[in-house]
Amino acid sequence: MKNDNNERRNSEELKDAVPGDDPNVVNGEESTGLDFIRARIVRDGKTGKYDGRVHTRFPPEPNGYLHIGHAKSICLNFGIADEYNGLCNLRMDDTDPSKESMEYVEAIKRDVRWLGFDWGDRMYYASDYFDQLYEWAVKLIKKGKAYVDQLSEEEIREYRGTVTEPGRPSPYRDRSIEENLDLFERMKNGEFADGELVLRAKADLASPNMKMRDPLMYRIRHMSHYRTGDKWCIYPMYDFTHGQSDSIEKITHSICTLEFENNRELYDWFLDEIEIYHPQQIEFARLNLSHTVMSKRRLLELVEEGCVDGWDDPRMPTISGLRRRGYSPEAIRAFCDRIGVAKRESMVDIALLEHCLREDLNRRAMRVMAVLRPLKVVIENYPEDEVEMLDAVNNPESESAGSRKLPFSRVIYIEQEDFREYPPKKFFRLAPGREVRLKHGYFIKCEKAIRDEKSGEIIELRCTYDPKTKSGEAPAGRKVKGTLHWVSADHAVSAEVRLYDHLFTTPDPMSESGEEDHKKYLNPRSLEVLEGCMVEPSLSDARPGEYFQFLRQGYFCVDSRDSKPGALVFNRTVGLRDTWAKIEKAQQSKKG
Ligand code: ATP
Ligand code: MG
Repeated sequence: MKNDNNERRNSEELKDAVPGDDPNVVNGEESTGLDFIRARIVRDGKTGKYDGRVHTRFPPEPNGYLHIGHAKSICLNFGIADEYNGLCNLRMDDTDPSKESMEYVEAIKRDVRWLGFDWGDRMYYASDYFDQLYEWAVKLIKKGKAYVDQLSEEEIREYRGTVTEPGRPSPYRDRSIEENLDLFERMKNGEFADGELVLRAKADLASPNMKMRDPLMYRIRHMSHYRTGDKWCIYPMYDFTHGQSDSIEKITHSICTLEFENNRELYDWFLDEIEIYHPQQIEFARLNLSHTVMSKRRLLELVEEGCVDGWDDPRMPTISGLRRRGYSPEAIRAFCDRIGVAKRESMVDIALLEHCLREDLNRRAMRVMAVLRPLKVVIENYPEDEVEMLDAVNNPESESAGSRKLPFSRVIYIEQEDFREYPPKKFFRLAPGREVRLKHGYFIKCEKAIRDEKSGEIIELRCTYDPKTKSGEAPAGRKVKGTLHWVSADHAVSAEVRLYDHLFTTPDPMSESGEEDHKKYLNPRSLEVLEGCMVEPSLSDARPGEYFQFLRQGYFCVDSRDSKPGALVFNRTVGLRDTWAKIEKAQQSKKG
């Protein structure tokens, strides 16, 4: 399993490492109370390694929308810059013309900004460095450190050897510098077809690090790039671009995920051979979240195959999906803070993300009443035409949120599940002969249930109310256990409500499916659409993106795409029940 491998690799790394200078080794720096990345930055500040500068960057490839994993990297890079009086760049690592687009660039900018971060005037594109990279490639050829190869992709792989077997040199490895310069220029000029030739680094075919075995630097792609157009028909590989881009931007600490650990040696090799400035690369474990998939490639597949309704489908772990679902930037940032950074991969329970969301929304969301599956209730002893305006507190967690007026009248709706003809034990809601409290209103008692003659379903309740119980206050000596939410039938506004559940039924669809068959774990009940829900009239002018707590139901927001005045659509952001609190409690009781 994936996680085991990583643990093994990391413990090996710890064993082999020389203590002291490698920031990728955790050596007792926990004692500073800082994570290993911040500890390193503080140390470099003290030794003056970068003249006290702290300069990070967030470097996405614009080949998809950002997801919650990227949010972790964004919070880390921009967060560190903020904390240590440094700078953080936003850079598009856009070296692959086949998958990148301006739509993705715009979405990335929107999402980073929405999360609350600002790159100032430091928005960069690796594609702006193509000329410089070309010059550096020529420089390496001239130094005898790069050559044009004409083995096929397959042959290159075969010649490269395996972990136990060194690589063999390509028959073209020892071309003369002149010939290499000539061929490379002709590659650039478009004289060859895709795949016919490549430029490779002349590094170390015997290296135990496969990345060092003469990696590709350039390949031929007769394809327009979304920014450079048809200027180029050769494109630098990501590995020949990323380190140099960091160097050009004078990044001090290049923070990236663990899978780039082996690339570090190669990036350093390129920078050494080109003879330019070195940032320090530091790797951390990527975020894996349960019940979802995270790679952009997988997410794109879900979008393209119509498994979800676009990148911003509220079930997606994308930042735009979370936003549309009703997540606040504060909740996402709090989550990223809380998970911290580590050197070991693990799986974070999605319940923790939801817990952070509830903590935030609990403070801020206005409490309102919405009946999702309405059951009509006629209060027989309430005057026909009377409407009372009851006082309703907006948020008991926040006095400044104030209160509003709520209409009450003879016909109301309650939730179907709040009535049982034959109530089981511990069912404290409405049943024939039983009394409950209406939130902000009166006590009502059920006198009779009326059935539909044909279907036999209960379609209406006949109740009476007690005028002495206004605002839910019980006269001395009288108790009711249940409090129900409700809306006045004449005043309620009809709405569509979308209930969401996890996108996948299993915590780790990727590993359980052996990587390829994860879609069989897609949750067929991840979306339930309820129409004809009844919400209180104060919601009639709710604006897209506004969020609420529907009492007893959960947190909901107005859908930013489909909701229209007069045709409201609400998304359930998260339910009220906190499974994380339970998990944490169980963990604590196990510990001690
Ligand atoms: P994906 O595998 O989802 O396509 P990626 O790593 O290819 O992601 P990039 O656009 O290259 O996506 O990522 C930009 C930055 O975000 C990189 O520095 C990368 O290390 C970081 N990043 C990507 N995924 C995660 C994650 N799950 N957790 C933390 N950081 C991540
Ligand atoms: Mg990638």
